[in-house]
Amino acid sequence: MSTARLRVDRGRCIGAGMCALTAPDVFDQDAEEGLVVLLRAEPAETRLTAARMAAGMCPSGAITLGGPDSGSSALPAPPADGCQ
Ligand code: SF4
Repeated sequence: MSTARLRVDRGRCIGAGMCALTAPDVFDQDAEEGLVVLLRAEPAETRLTAARMAAGMCPSGAITLGGPDSGSSALPAPPADGCQ
């Protein structure tokens, strides 16, 4: 059973694509602008590690992860080398 809820902010997304590369079952990019598309807001436990990695690697901080009842919370700052 999933215990985390993902949110994405397409207004912050810069289309770098690390999320879709890191967790392709959870994130995709749209064909027009390359912006993030959230495929699974509450990923299964087996996908959570990849989803967390993807969120941490996002260079724009567009992905947040929170508990199912608590709303979202910001993740730690992305690594400086990001995915640009
Ligand atoms: S890694 Fe971040 S900036 Fe890159 S496509 Fe995904 S949400 Fe957008």
